[in-house]
Amino acid sequence: MNRKYDAIVIGGGQAGPSLAVRFAAAGKSVAIIERHLFGGTCVNAGCTPTKTLIASARIAYDMRRAHDYGVELPAASVAVNMRAVHARKERIVGASRAALENWICGTRNCTVYKGHARFESARSVSVDGQVLTSEQFFINVGGRPRIPLYPGIENVRFLTSTSLLELEELPAHLVIVGGSYVGLEFAQMYRRFGSDVTVIEKEPRLLSREDVEVAAAIQTALEAEGIQIRLGAECIELAHQGESVTANVICSEGSPKITGSHVLLAVGRTPNTGDLGLAMAGVEIDHAGFIKVDDELRTNVSGIWALGDCNGKGAFTHTAYNDYEIVAANLFEGETKRRLTDRIPCYALFVDPPLGRVGLTERDALAQGYAIRVGSRPMTRVARAAEKGETQGLMKVVVDARSNLILGASILGVGADEAIHSIIDVMAAKAPYTTLQHTVHIHPTVSELIPTILGELVSS
Ligand SMILES: Cc1cc2nc3c(=O)[nH]c(=O)nc-3n(C[C@H](O)[C@H](O)[C@H](O)COP(=O)(O)OP(=O)(O)OC[C@H]3O[C@@H](n4cnc5c(N)ncnc54)[C@H](O)[C@@H]3O)c2cc1C
Repeated sequence: MNRKYDAIVIGGGQAGPSLAVRFAAAGKSVAIIERHLFGGTCVNAGCTPTKTLIASARIAYDMRRAHDYGVELPAASVAVNMRAVHARKERIVGASRAALENWICGTRNCTVYKGHARFESARSVSVDGQVLTSEQFFINVGGRPRIPLYPGIENVRFLTSTSLLELEELPAHLVIVGGSYVGLEFAQMYRRFGSDVTVIEKEPRLLSREDVEVAAAIQTALEAEGIQIRLGAECIELAHQGESVTANVICSEGSPKITGSHVLLAVGRTPNTGDLGLAMAGVEIDHAGFIKVDDELRTNVSGIWALGDCNGKGAFTHTAYNDYEIVAANLFEGETKRRLTDRIPCYALFVDPPLGRVGLTERDALAQGYAIRVGSRPMTRVARAAEKGETQGLMKVVVDARSNLILGASILGVGADEAIHSIIDVMAAKAPYTTLQHTVHIHPTVSELIPTILGELVSS
């Protein structure tokens, strides 16, 4: 039987449910199709479980350091119960998913389909043998961990960022292929749980998109906790050695064999666009499988939009949600169009200390031809960091010397994931850096030093 809707949303991740509810609230009939779990990657296999586990790992870390703060606790008494850690994560993830599912299932005018959606044409999709038609489709299918085609991989029990979240045992030695955002969060988390951890990164440094001194400071912080980092080591093969797993690497230094009890592949993500029947609808994708969109998230086929990770314009929950806001505003609100290019890129890396990032790095600003002035300060010169005993990292703000607008910032330090927002907001307001420089911030905080460093800019 064919069913016709005013709008059909494919995928119940971070953009789809809000958009479906928005249609329903406007009195339109809408269908939302989810093949696995509502909440998508963020709730089930991304932000929520990792930040929940990171919180447990942080408690273990703090307890081991209690003596440094004058609190006596036998270090040997700190034991991590991975089953309990896992159960806590499941509770928090489950509550988040249930709240979302109840919301969407309880929405009038919104019909939920649980199954895999596939385009039959530009105006119809099939799901579990049913055909649904509409003049408007919104694709929010997200992505999944990329599995590299290493020789031997088919014979090896490897972990991904998704399957590692289900592991209830503590790996004796976790080898992580990939020294970028996802890999590093897991590296520190598992080190704090008690595993030996080795990170293999093919580039000569971690986090190649960040400024050199920022990446170096993160490396120093991770190594200080006992994480082994192998840079310039390209994994080319995986093999079992008894119960262990060995990664064979091409490298100019160190052993070409890195062996551990478990191996995590954290080498990027692939959009879920290969099994969506996009060719039947005529929707174009790029060489990596991302759906091509314009500045308002429209695909090349009229009446079909793509939101979230599957369009390759962002890789975060906040970018997926912002995609929803852009599409919804342009469909339901006033005349001023909201556009993708108005979005200021920002994100955090949730290691300790966290990295808060917005806009351009110093290197990228120079590469783009800006004349820049830079203000920076090590966290050793931030009173709140010293008081907390967490002085690793640095703060750095990049300003356009001609316009006085802030081009970007990196804050690596305690509280950086929150402190970065004062810079994001000033950039969004398109106010000159002097507005922030002359703003009084609360003492003692990390944020109070942002006006100070803006008063100490030097040409770069
Ligand atoms: C380990 C990890 C940690 C992360 N941490 C953070 C973080 O701290 N902060 C942050 O901002 N981001 C983080 N992210 C990224 C974030 O999770 C994603 O950017 C975000 O979930 C993308 O949302 P989305 O709506 O585009 O897709 P998703 O959340 O992936 O949702 C897509 C949904 O579509 C469904 N689907 C796919 N194909 C079909 C189909 N054919 N039919 C029906 N349904 C389909 C899927 O089942 C899924 O539920 C993390 C990611 C990972 C892997």
